[in-house]
Amino acid sequence: AAVDTGGPTIFDKIIAKEIPSDIVYEDDKVLAFRDINPQAPVHILIIPKLRDGLTQLSKAEARHGEILGQLLYASKIVAEKEGIAEGFRVVINNGPDACQSVYHLHLHVIGGRQLKWPPG
Ligand code: 5GP
Repeated sequence: AAVDTGGPTIFDKIIAKEIPSDIVYEDDKVLAFRDINPQAPVHILIIPKLRDGLTQLSKAEARHGEILGQLLYASKIVAEKEGIAEGFRVVINNGPDACQSVYHLHLHVIGGRQLKWPPG
């Protein structure tokens, strides 16, 4: 399983627009783009443009409070834009046991179908 190396990730290239992505929302702090391997009709990733040590949620410190709030707020904006505000899920996979594969903090916004709970 992938582990946190603190090294660069594919998301750096997406932020730099060195590799293409289907961007659905962007402001000065966050970027939202469609997941390349969608698990539902709507599956969007929201990331901080500046990783600032947030390789994964468990590395969060008090100084990250503002960006963490901005990411969560952006999930609501994205859900509205995608027409799924009535029902959607926000997921953060943290670490190997949660199948995190990219070590740049990201929120998954998933919806557009009936989701199951528990997710497994
Ligand atoms: P994790 O498993 O780390 O929570 O989620 C990483 C997500 O990034 C996966 O759902 C995967 O499909 C997505 N992903 C990985 N590489 C790329 C890429 O190059 N472009 C896009 N749009 N998504 C990617």
